[in-house]
Amino acid sequence: ENPIRLDDGEEVAERLGVRLTSPERVVYPGQGITKAQIVAYYEDVAEAMLPHIENRPLSLVRCPQGRAKQCFFQKHDTGGFPEQLLSKAIAEKDGEKKDYFYIKELAGLVAGTQMNVLEWHIWGSRFLAVEKPDRMVFDIDPDEDLPFSAITEAATDIRDRLTDLGLNSYPLVSGGKGIHVIVPLKPTKPWPEIKAFCRALAQSMATDEPDRFTANLSKARRKGRLFIDYLRNERGSTAISPWSVRSREGAPVAAPVEWDEVKGLTKANGFSLAAAAGRARDAGAWSGYFEEKQQLTVKMLKALNAE
Ligand code: ATP
Ligand code: MN
Ligand code: MN
Repeated sequence: ENPIRLDDGEEVAERLGVRLTSPERVVYPGQGITKAQIVAYYEDVAEAMLPHIENRPLSLVRCPQGRAKQCFFQKHDTGGFPEQLLSKAIAEKDGEKKDYFYIKELAGLVAGTQMNVLEWHIWGSRFLAVEKPDRMVFDIDPDEDLPFSAITEAATDIRDRLTDLGLNSYPLVSGGKGIHVIVPLKPTKPWPEIKAFCRALAQSMATDEPDRFTANLSKARRKGRLFIDYLRNERGSTAISPWSVRSREGAPVAAPVEWDEVKGLTKANGFSLAAAAGRARDAGAWSGYFEEKQQLTVKMLKALNAE
């Protein structure tokens, strides 16, 4: 396993002109991981991560006292952030404009780390075409009693249904309990059509196999089942960015994996910073992801009765 370079986070921040305070402060007490080490991790994965996260509205999980203490989601730029953490206005549903964070380069990830960001959540669209998503995500949320094999089987079932419709997809272990199945798209269709498609796909699975799946958010309906959370695909919803660290026990990373690895996985939180950094440096993952030119077609929507 590639050890992360433990001490050059400070140097990275200095080189990028981001002021890093308390670089030695431990943010993951269980692992003894410091703020400077998180910076070093993001430098290691930047080349793989930035194409996924850049120029998207973000929602940040901040943990000012480290991961074991209180963390909170921050959606809007309320001021006082380093200049490398950029922000731009977007109209909310009610028309009111709010400033959303975004980043363009490693300095943004470093600036966020300085502000105790431990999770980077992304919109499915980018500022260039904020009303037209360039990715869909099927977030598999298991009932706690299910074995992990139920999740890996659900992921491959979603993949197969997407393949039948003509769409390639890519699996991500969330760093928490589940797997996300991601579909890169050309940003041609607006949010309502994307959501209708995702809801219809989730509902078709729940209808065909009601013992395995539910497309209903209620926890009661989830008993012994998997919730196919299609609600990540709404304007303003977010999902964890590929390669983001999570604020959970063990300091796991949301890591891209390959389909042929999926059946061998035993958990979704098995990638440490070091393991993820090694993966990003070696083969990476998801080769072909950014070359995909696919988009939703009327035929696909019709096949699911999702018009
Ligand atoms: P797991 O595999 O454990 O389910 P996950 O990342 O999929 O991990 P979920 O609980 O399914 O976590 O949440 C899905 C997404 O919903 C999160 O990644 C996040 O982007 C968004 N989300 C969850 N809670 C909030 C919140 N309080 N405020 C804003 N967004 C949230
Ligand atoms: Mn989930
Ligand atoms: Mn979910």
